[in-house]
Amino acid sequence: MDCQCQETEALLRDYAAGRLTQSDRQRVELIIEDCDQCAKTLTQLQQSTATSISQPENEETNTALSLGQILTVGGLCTLYGGGIYLWLDGMLHSDEIPWAMKIGLPALFIGIGILLTSVLIQRIKAAKNDPYKDVKK
Ligand SMILES: [Zn+2]
Repeated sequence: MDCQCQETEALLRDYAAGRLTQSDRQRVELIIEDCDQCAKTLTQLQQSTATSISQPENEETNTALSLGQILTVGGLCTLYGGGIYLWLDGMLHSDEIPWAMKIGLPALFIGIGILLTSVLIQRIKAAKNDPYKDVKK
């Protein structure tokens, strides 16, 4: 088989990192069956991927990172929630505020709070699942 080893290397890199679709994986498996050079490259890539994942300092960095994120989110939610609560509490006990605002504003701020929290949760999940995380370090 006529193999363009240089071009295949990018594909092999993704294969080693587990980023390929089913059909692309099958393509790579066919290539490495036919090409010794690509099979060798893949073995090297898989070894370097395994090494970078098992590095203990990466685990510590990740733990510190998620701890920092949890503290940041927790702190933000507490501050935000506490501040809004105090402000709304004062407003709700005032007779000068129309009833529509007494209902509308709390609903608005609860909505913003939920949005903020869900965005943060999504970002944390995305950071954990980021396949390029190990590559960047
Ligand atoms: Zn090749």
